[in-house]
Amino acid sequence: EAEVVLVGRSNVGKSTLMREVTGHSFDTGGSPGVTREPNHYDWAPEDFVLTDLPGFGFMSGVHEDRREEIKTNIVRYLEEYAENVLVAILVVDGKSAVDIIDRHSGPDEIPYDVEMFHFLRELGVPTVVAVNKMDKVDDRDERLDELCDRLGLYPPWKQWQEVIAPITAKSGRIEPLNEAVREHLHEHQRDDL
Ligand code: GDP
Repeated sequence: EAEVVLVGRSNVGKSTLMREVTGHSFDTGGSPGVTREPNHYDWAPEDFVLTDLPGFGFMSGVHEDRREEIKTNIVRYLEEYAENVLVAILVVDGKSAVDIIDRHSGPDEIPYDVEMFHFLRELGVPTVVAVNKMDKVDDRDERLDELCDRLGLYPPWKQWQEVIAPITAKSGRIEPLNEAVREHLHEHQRDDL
């Protein structure tokens, strides 16, 4: 069955977004790293399943080895099911993503979000970056341009509305994401004709 996958670091608002999209409730605010296995849900109006992959990256109280294992599982899952995946949604925190990326950029470190973005593209999976918590961001255009730059997309971000979707999941403002996902789904349908 066709699938849309959701990936992202812990605490970026994946559960909140899932709740918004599916109308189900998910553990939010529980202990970090709680979502450990892929969870599948029907995305009602559309004919596909939404898969929530475990959050990864730094989680307090979760051991380094366990974090690596989670990351390896995510990569394996994506490699195995890439064929079925219509769209991947990489959720990031709009307020902190650029700072976290910059902090983890160095000779022997690739920041997770950037790595995941490129990995998904290499797999040929159309990817939308849901830039969440935009309610906390003042310099919106500037921040989104910086994020584009870090992801290797030439700014301004407005050129990339199929890829960069600024949202506020908490208050249900996710239209740019729906729009971007829809674009990719329709492209896919055209390819099938
Ligand atoms: P997850 O670990 O990625 O599943 O993140 P959660 O959905 O549990 O959200 C983590 C925290 O971010 C919670 O306190 C949420 O209320 C908060 N959060 C989620 N979405 C938004 C948003 O759009 N704006 C703001 N300001 N906070 C949000």
